[in-house]
Amino acid sequence: MNGLDNGISGSAAVSMAAWQTIGHDKAIGTLARGMEMGRMAHAWLLAGPPQVGKMTLALDLARLVNCTADEVKLQPCGECRQCRRISESLHADVRVISQGGGAGNRTTARTAIGVEQIREAQREAGLKPYEGRYRVFIIEDAENFTQEAANALLKMLEEPPDDVMFALLASEVRENSADESAGYIAYAPEHEQDRIAALLDAVPEVGGILPTILSRCQVLELRPLPIALVQSEIERRFELTPQDATEIARLSSGRLGWALQAGAEPQLLSERAERLDEIEAALRGGIDERFAYAERQAAAFGRDRSGVYQELQLWLGWWRDVLVIREGNEDLAVNLSRLDALRATAGGCDSAQVVDAIHAVQETTAMLESNVNPRLCLEGMMLRMPQTAAQTQSA
Ligand SMILES: [Zn+2]
Repeated sequence: MNGLDNGISGSAAVSMAAWQTIGHDKAIGTLARGMEMGRMAHAWLLAGPPQVGKMTLALDLARLVNCTADEVKLQPCGECRQCRRISESLHADVRVISQGGGAGNRTTARTAIGVEQIREAQREAGLKPYEGRYRVFIIEDAENFTQEAANALLKMLEEPPDDVMFALLASEVRENSADESAGYIAYAPEHEQDRIAALLDAVPEVGGILPTILSRCQVLELRPLPIALVQSEIERRFELTPQDATEIARLSSGRLGWALQAGAEPQLLSERAERLDEIEAALRGGIDERFAYAERQAAAFGRDRSGVYQELQLWLGWWRDVLVIREGNEDLAVNLSRLDALRATAGGCDSAQVVDAIHAVQETTAMLESNVNPRLCLEGMMLRMPQTAAQTQSA
């Protein structure tokens, strides 16, 4: 399809033509080997950062196990009725379960997957597949079940019907968790799972995937793709200037889904540009502007936590760019459309100041996750941002 896939080593080597997934060769190799040996797990956990390709791979899995093409068995053909129905989201046996999809959830900042959604899946799982070989349940945000829902799911995973398969999708983003180690559980390689599960047992109050669920899943870890692969994909699919393609690819941090969205929806980049404008204005401003900025963000935190975490990621990326420019590695900068402001700041402060600014943002993120007063954290961060000569002049 794109000539960039590295292929799979060993006996499960296949042409990747029919996979919708780009990259992630190791995960695809695991699925292909499972098919080749006739030993497919009934529950898979697809773990990786948001928009790295988990849903695409889950749909590939659904196509793989339902494909009716005669000759190829180690990959979905992409053309048979089963493959096409799944690609078009029309297949009656492939269900996507997402948070907030059930009735009766309390209105919280973030709704968990409720027990009703799992019970409904349970009822369906008891029936023979309607049109395919397997019923496939794709469960998004699998780190975010209610306790009741998790218990109901566990019951299904303990005795899965032969013709049912689960794909649980989980990202590394975990809210309200003070335990840093928890963020890595979803990424545990198979041989580490027992150890990690034991670790989780020791801290049962930590949110996220229950170790009992984890222990019943085969884990496919999806890491960010190489930036060059992301860039070639978006160049192939969209008409972009070379600078835009490079910037989007670098901004994506290897998450192809994000890059495709940015390519298809230019307003994503313009919204981002507006937020960066605000960040740069706060940096140029004096104490009043900086505190006003902190106050706005603190107020936003009450409504939209993830929006504020994203904003902090922008700060982090911005200072990281200043640092790489200071160190003479401008070709590693991500915010290519901001080079003038970045260079000016890089010229106006020393590396120690930049490193301290980066630490300030990281520490603020950690404090917010530990439920420290948002306004205090954010004000503290703004006080630590260097005031450079270049910024003062342009203010
Ligand atoms: Zn097919």
